[in-house]
Formats: sequence, structure tokens, C-alpha cells
Amino acid sequence: MIALVTGGSRGIGAAIALSLAQAGHDVALTCRHRLAEAEQIAEQCRAYHVRAMALQADAGCEDDVIQAVAAVNETLGTIGILVNNAGITRDTLLLRMSLDQFNEVIQTNLTGAFLMSRAVLPAMIRARRGRIIQISSVAGLYGNAGQVNYAAAKAGLIGLTRSLAREVASRNITVNAVAPGLIETDMTRQLSEAQREAARQRIALGRFGKGEEVAGVVRFLASDDAAYMTGQVLEVSGGLSL
Ligand code: NDP
Repeated sequence: MIALVTGGSRGIGAAIALSLAQAGHDVALTCRHRLAEAEQIAEQCRAYHVRAMALQADAGCEDDVIQAVAAVNETLGTIGILVNNAGITRDTLLLRMSLDQFNEVIQTNLTGAFLMSRAVLPAMIRARRGRIIQISSVAGLYGNAGQVNYAAAKAGLIGLTRSLAREVASRNITVNAVAPGLIETDMTRQLSEAQREAARQRIALGRFGKGEEVAGVVRFLASDDAAYMTGQVLEVSGGLSL
């Protein structure tokens, strides 16, 4: 199938793009700024003998999304797998949070998933087949102090997942979410050593996860093995919530 992974230039998205390529899917990956890095990941995908392309497209911008999906349709073909992975943080306590900080996170992390899903769905419905996978977060399940914007967006993604799953199930399209815990990427490298240690103590497996460990679950959800799963949220957190 043809997969579109948003935010595939680094971190979890890059690991997902590579894992889907390894599974034999053609891959398009988007980024917001770092096109050269996205091109490098596309090049690494091609090593698995699949087609791959990188695109610059702001997930939260309607025009960018429409153009990106059209470009993928034209270059690779109809998108069968969409992974809404693009995400940002703008952490601070609610009382200090500006409206811009709140809106920016909602726009990328939640509105972006809405725009992308809406753009790919008509072709999936015509094909009577499709997989949409949202990258949510444990913050969306349990909340996190300093992240009301991020947690609201990630919880919103879960509502979007469950509702859209009901809307498109009759068309053989599944919609699921993955909720990672703390994964070693640029996003978590912003944490102080004290914050990292406090987080590690809450993780049953005693370590941060790797992008590949999230990617494996996404790959499963995109595979035929997950054909009878829809509207579900899979937590990949090393037992953070136990
Ligand atoms: P990174 O910060 O490492 O990478 C973010 C990726 O998203 C980059 O490819 C970036 O592109 C892209 N991106 C950011 N904003 C936009 C946008 N508006 N449009 C398109 N692409 C964009 O993040 P992670 O890999 O850590 O996170 C990936 C996803 O996983 C996010 O949704 C995050 O919320 C979620 N997550 C991460 C966890 C973690 O512990 N790391 C835990 C739980 C969930 P560019 O390089 O151009 O900036």
C-alpha cells in the first residue's frame, strides 16, 4: 500500500516511515521545516526497494495538506495508510499559557489530523480500504501538568479516532490511535535530567522507549493482522500507567 506519515523527518515519524518501508509499503513523509532531513529518511526508505518521497507541508494548514495529498496521489498513487504523527509541544502551566501557545498546539496536533484525514478519506472510501493511525500520547489519556494544550489535543485525537472509526467502518477503513509514553526523541531531549529521572521512576520497564518500539505497533495496526481492530487506543509506554 501507499503510506503517508506526517512529521516523518525525525523522531517517531522517521522510525514509522522506515518500518512501513521495511514492510513493503511505498512511503510519503512530510515535515514542516527540515526538508533535507526528510529527504534523507526517504532515501533510507528506498533502501527497502520501495518508492519514497519527502514533502514540506504544515499539517495544520489546509492548503498545504490538500496540495501534499494531491502530490502523493499523483506521484505514488492512492494513499491507503495515513499516520498522523506530526506534533509539537509548547509546555507551561495553564496560568502562564498564552492563547497562541494553546492554539498552536491544537492546530498542529489535532486540527492537522482532522485536515489530513479529511483529505485522504475520499480515495480510501472509493478503494473500500484504508488505515488511519493517530499518534496520541499518555498525556491525552491521563493528563500532564504543564501540558493542558498538548493533553487536550491528544485527548481530542482519541475522540476523533473513536468517532471517525464509527463513520467509516462500513467502508472497510479502520481508525486507531497509539498513545506513546516517554520516547527518546528531540521532543523529550528538551527535559532536564531531573525531569527525566522523575519520569524514569514512573516507568515500570525503567527506561524511555525508542521510536522503533512505537513504529512496530503502528506497523501492526497498518497490517492485515489488525483488520478486526478499529476505534482503539494502544498504549506504548513501558507500563507508565501501571
Ligand atoms: P519530534 O519533535 O522529534 O519530531 C516532530 C516531527 O513533526 C518532525 O518531523 C517535525 O518536522 C514534524 N512537525 C512538527 N510540526 C509540524 C507541522 N505543523 N507540520 C508538519 N510536520 C510537523 O517529535 P517526536 O518524534 O517525539 O513526536 C512525534 C509524535 O509523537 C508527536 O505527535 C508527539 O506528540 C508524539 N509523542 C511523542 C512522545 C515522546 O516521548 N517523544 C510521547 C508521546 C507522543 P520538522 O523536522 O520539519 O520540524
